[in-house]
Amino acid sequence: MATYFISDLHLSESRPNITAALESFLEETASDAQTLYILGDFFDAWIGDDDSSEFAEKLKNILSSIKSRGIKVFFIRGNRDFMVGEALANACGFTLLEDETVVELYGKRVLLMHGDTLCTADKEYQQFRKMVRNPSWQQQVLALPINQRRAMAADLRSKSLSMNAMKPEDIMDVDQIEVATIMDEYRVKVLIHGHTHRPARHDFDEKGKPHSRWVLGDWHSKAHYIRADEEGIELLQLKTA
Ligand code: MN
Repeated sequence: MATYFISDLHLSESRPNITAALESFLEETASDAQTLYILGDFFDAWIGDDDSSEFAEKLKNILSSIKSRGIKVFFIRGNRDFMVGEALANACGFTLLEDETVVELYGKRVLLMHGDTLCTADKEYQQFRKMVRNPSWQQQVLALPINQRRAMAADLRSKSLSMNAMKPEDIMDVDQIEVATIMDEYRVKVLIHGHTHRPARHDFDEKGKPHSRWVLGDWHSKAHYIRADEEGIELLQLKTA
């Protein structure tokens, strides 16, 4: 039995190969899974749990099927699917976790995050995050008709693409001081996160003690995932095309 971690699939109707890759990951690769952690940006966009479009229903069915295989599913919201709510969690049988959750993984304390809050150099993004994570902003948006929300999500996405295109590369990566600070705050030596689409294992010493930060990757051309069991943690990949 093993524990799996995925993030940044950005599932969207326009990329059916990624949905297919997820289905085969669940059936074949993760067939020994006991627990699956989804660390954000599972959906390319999520405009509300009341979305009953054909594609949203398909993804709800996939999520529900994981639980019906006897796998426990935990979900941390990312910057694309921050509108995922308790209604979806209840309907699909997964548990929503706060960003920054410490879990015990085979005897080790591990901190789980989406990762966007670690990119502190991107002030403009952190400002935007504050707005969209505000419960009253979310309530106002959820009160809008679904088609209007869909248009809004598309608009936000194109704005974010054009803003990000002008930012230097390092601004969109994590800040090492922030990483060390948060790992110290939660008293962990291991951190797993996604968001930056820079899959890697970073080992570093802090206060003379070894720490590791595992970064999941996206599913654009390869499906990146982490598998952990009694033996340790591994960052692995599959072809998605
Ligand atoms: Mn993200």
